[in-house]
Amino acid sequence: MQPLIDNARTFGRRPEEFARLADGQSPQVLFITCSDSRVVPALITGARPGELFELRTAGNIVPAHATDRPCGETATIEYAVQVLGVRDIVVCGHSHCGAVGALVRGDDLDAVPAVRDWLAHAADAPSAADPVDPTVAEAVQRHVLTQLLRLRSYPCVEQRLAEGQLRLHGWYYEVHTGRVHEHRAATDSFETL
Ligand SMILES: [Zn+2]
Repeated sequence: MQPLIDNARTFGRRPEEFARLADGQSPQVLFITCSDSRVVPALITGARPGELFELRTAGNIVPAHATDRPCGETATIEYAVQVLGVRDIVVCGHSHCGAVGALVRGDDLDAVPAVRDWLAHAADAPSAADPVDPTVAEAVQRHVLTQLLRLRSYPCVEQRLAEGQLRLHGWYYEVHTGRVHEHRAATDSFETL
């Protein structure tokens, strides 16, 4: 923790870079990814402060849209689309994902019931052709597509897509190489970005 504190102490010594941020934010992209510490969206994309609106959840799960209870994830997505007017949404899964791995293996998560119940949001548990593949690449990629489908069911997303004001992207990030793969609709496969 101490190195992080040390960096935070010196971080604000560049006031000229941050002053304009007081005027507000107008990010063009909502970036939805896993909470995993190995995935650093600003590092991957080179985004500067104000450029990426982020939603991070265990397993980059997009919960089903519901209005009968408060949901932080739904609120974040709605705000990004309706208020900020983002033009692109990226759902980025990653290799070696603990959440997707637990789903694929059917791990017993009774010791962490909040995690168990959250992952139950993940609709169909992704299967893997090779369940011992440590990257769980295939399962993560399928999982990303499931979350994109969920996203399409959000009324605000559906509307902006119909208006041609929004694009959705499925990414797969390799934590061990730094490479990003993007889902291509034409071939229905993930290919190097
Ligand atoms: Zn993960």
